Amino acid sequence: MTLEQKDLKYIWHPCSQMKDYEEFPPIIIERGKGIYLYDKNGKEYMDIISSWWCNLLGHCNEKINAYIKKQLDKLEHVIFANFSHEGAIELCEELIKILPKGLTKFNFSDNGSSSVEAALKMAFQYQHQIGNTKKKKFMCLTGGYHGETIGALSVGSLDLYAKIYKPMLMETIHIEAPDCYRCRYNQNRENCRCECFSDAEKKFEKYGEETCAVIAEPLLQASAGMKIYPPLYLKKLRDMCDNHNVLFIADEIAVNFGRTGKMFACDHAGISPDIMCVSKGLTGGYMPMSITITTDKIYNAFYGDYNEAKAFMHSHTYSGNPLGCCAAIAVQKILREDDIINKAKARAEYLNDKLKEKLLNHKNTGEIRNIGLINAIELVIDKNTKEGFDSKLRMGYQIYKNALKRGLLLRPLGNVIYFNPPLIINEEEIDKAVDLCASSINDILS
Ligand code: PMP
Repeated sequence: MTLEQKDLKYIWHPCSQMKDYEEFPPIIIERGKGIYLYDKNGKEYMDIISSWWCNLLGHCNEKINAYIKKQLDKLEHVIFANFSHEGAIELCEELIKILPKGLTKFNFSDNGSSSVEAALKMAFQYQHQIGNTKKKKFMCLTGGYHGETIGALSVGSLDLYAKIYKPMLMETIHIEAPDCYRCRYNQNRENCRCECFSDAEKKFEKYGEETCAVIAEPLLQASAGMKIYPPLYLKKLRDMCDNHNVLFIADEIAVNFGRTGKMFACDHAGISPDIMCVSKGLTGGYMPMSITITTDKIYNAFYGDYNEAKAFMHSHTYSGNPLGCCAAIAVQKILREDDIINKAKARAEYLNDKLKEKLLNHKNTGEIRNIGLINAIELVIDKNTKEGFDSKLRMGYQIYKNALKRGLLLRPLGNVIYFNPPLIINEEEIDKAVDLCASSINDILS
C-alpha cells in the first residue's frame, strides 16, 4: 500500500468531503523550510496561506527550533492547576508589553475554538456574578466565524459549518455585518461613516439589556471570505458595548501578531476589548495553544473564598503547555528583535501592487482587497452586477487543484482566492507566487 492509500484507510481529514480524496489523494508532506513545503517526492509548494493562517515566521524556523529543543530536555508538560512554570510567566510578561491597554489576565487553552468557549463562559459568568442576571444572550456579526465547537458555532454565522447543528445551538442575536464590496449604502470602505452600523444600533436598542457580550472578528471576517471593514465600525461597536454594559470579545485568532500590519487588529481602531482570544500565530504555528485574555475587573469578579463558588471552573489538560509557551516566547522575541511587522509592511504593499498588476484587469476579478499581507481576490461572473459564481461550480476548488499542480498552496474560500503568507515572505517569493496564482486563475477562467 502507498502512504496515500494508508492515509485514506485510517484518516478522516478535517473539513473535507473524503470522497474528493479518491480522485485527489492527500499530499504527503515530508518537510518544510521558510514559506516552502516539500512532499515525499521532493516537489515544493509555496505555503502562502501559512498552513491555515498559523505559520507566522516560516516553517522550521531555526530560532524557534532552537528554543523548543532546549525546552524539550527540561520539561514537556505539567498540570497547570496549582502548578506553573517559568515559560508561562515569561510569556505573559512578553504579551503584556504589546497587548491593548488593560488586558492583564491570561487563561490558557489549546486551540482557537476552546479559547472562544472560555471567553463566552467567562463573559456570562462575569455578568451573573456582578448581579446582571438578565444578561444571558450573545450578539455576533453575520458572516462571523469563531470555530466549530458548539458554543463557537452558536456565535458564528456561516451555514456551511453550522446549518445541520442548528437544533443544538444556543440562540444568539445577529447584527448585520458590514459588507464593503457590496455596500448596501453605496459607500466606500476607505472614507465611509459606517452607515451600516445602524443595524447594530437597532439590535442594541432592542436586546442590549439581555445581552452579556458581543463577539466579533476585528476588521477582517476571515472565513467569510477575507471581508475587510473599517476601524470606525469597530470603534462604534466598542462604544456601543460600553453604553449598554455589554462586554466586547475580540476574536483576534486569525489576525493577531502582525497579520494586519499592526500587532493586533484592534490596534487599528485604538480600542481595548474586555476579552481577547489569541491563537494560531501565537506559537508561530508550532504548537496548538490559545489564550483568553481579560482585564483585572473581570478577573476580580471571580475572586473570593472557595465556598462562594465564584471560580472559573474551566480547564483543558494541555493548558499552559511548556513547549507551546516556549514557542510563543520565541515568536515574541523574533517579532521584536527582527522588527518583523514593520519590515512586512513594505512587502504587503509590494504584494498588493503585484496582484493588482496581474489580476485587477481580469474579467472575473471583482475586487482585490488587502489589510497587511492578507490580500483577497474576489472572483465574480460579472464585474458590474458583482454576482458570484454558483457554489456548486466549486470555482475556488478548481483553482486550488490547478495551483497545487503548479506548486502553490492556495485554499480559496468559495469564490475568494487569498494570500495570507508567513510575515517573512520576500519579494522574489511574492513575484513567483503571484505569477503561479494568476496562471491558475487564467487556466480555469480564461
Ligand atoms: N476564530 C477565528 C477568527 C478563526 O479564524 C478560527 C480558525 N480558523 C477559529 C476561531 C477557530 O480556531 P481553531 O481552528 O484553532 O479551533
